[in-house]
Amino acid sequence: MKNISILGSTGSIGTQALSVIESHPDLYRVCAITGQSNTELLISQALKFKPDMVVICNPDLYQEVKSALSHTEIKVLAGVDALCEAASMPEADLVLTAIVGSVGLKPTIAAIKAGKDIGLANKETLVVAGELIMSLAKEHGVKIIPVDSEHSAIFQCLVGEELTSIEKIYLTASGGPFRGKDRGFLKTVSKKEALKHPNWVMGAKITIDSASLMNKGLEVIEAKWLFDLEADQIDVIVHPQSIVHSLVQFNDGSMKAQMGLPDMKLPIHYAFAYPERITSDFKRFNFMDYPELTFSQADTQTFRNLDLAYQALRKGGNMACIVNAANEVVVSSFLNDQIGFLEMSDVIESCMAEVPFIAEPSLNNYLETDEHTRIFAHQLVTKQVK
Ligand code: NAD
Ligand code: MG
Repeated sequence: MKNISILGSTGSIGTQALSVIESHPDLYRVCAITGQSNTELLISQALKFKPDMVVICNPDLYQEVKSALSHTEIKVLAGVDALCEAASMPEADLVLTAIVGSVGLKPTIAAIKAGKDIGLANKETLVVAGELIMSLAKEHGVKIIPVDSEHSAIFQCLVGEELTSIEKIYLTASGGPFRGKDRGFLKTVSKKEALKHPNWVMGAKITIDSASLMNKGLEVIEAKWLFDLEADQIDVIVHPQSIVHSLVQFNDGSMKAQMGLPDMKLPIHYAFAYPERITSDFKRFNFMDYPELTFSQADTQTFRNLDLAYQALRKGGNMACIVNAANEVVVSSFLNDQIGFLEMSDVIESCMAEVPFIAEPSLNNYLETDEHTRIFAHQLVTKQVK
């Protein structure tokens, strides 16, 4: 029996993870769940899965959750700091990081220091502080098992292989809802259009990131740290059908791809079961439904974010942290109708130029960079609004 703590159980990944656990009650048990504000869902999850701990991150909502669960044995905690308790509790064998944004950094560190294996969905944490997280994981003998579908694909292709035999990897990208569009079109797109992803149903932030190609940019950086690669070894290829989840090319020229229907329950299930494979009843792929799988180059002239992410990766230091924080601000500003789709890249680029660069950042440097960048990006957004 594996005990799993789910940070962000009320989100897209979190709810799918609970459904995977529900299908295998003999193998998995939920020991903690956390949510930001959806109390109704969090309470119903708590009553159904009976975890040892529930964290409501918005402290104003504590009483509501506490009284709804007062007749149970469940410990109820409030506040963002309590995420670290859910991440490091003695009962947990594996922590699924399914919260969105750099707020995942501290609890991920807490989990690693407590010796917990990590099922990593929260890519922002690796983007912000990949070097620190990977070296901490090594030091504490902790496995970081990717849940992001592309990285799960690479991880699965690498079973039985040496990292040193990788020549390069290809991360596939659906291209999002605006594939093939030009900057004239993108100038006026609405959040409603940007939130319509062709292949995946996900949280709002990652859906906007997918439309702007920043998601792929963040994933390139995520891949660098997970698989110890140089920027030149990571390529992005647009594959609108999202069936080939990513590929590895080895130093003898051979390539391996991992394929399947686009369903996040599959990489979640793999991360929970790893290193085993466990039978699932997920829908199977049928070649006749996909007579054509197509591939093309990403358009980085139109979608500048992917290029900005590569620049950050090449620069190193706290630059990816700057990109991530600026991106979190612009995505929420876009979702609040404060800035246009193309302006998101402009603000990120200005932050990259203006926020002080630190070549060898400490954890505190990352936290400060994150905060400074958010303040600066907010100022830029406000200027654009005026
Ligand atoms: P989501 O918005 O659906 O859910 C986010 C979860 O985090 C919710 O439980 C929410 O309550 C919690 N949360 C949000 N802000 C918080 C805060 N400030 N403090 C504490 N908790 C907070 O997001 P999602 O789509 O499930 O994505 C979660 C993570 O997984 C992201 O990092 C995303 O990039 C990654 N990911 C998601 C998918 C997907 O298919 N949804 C695929 C690959 C990777
Ligand atoms: Mg992905």
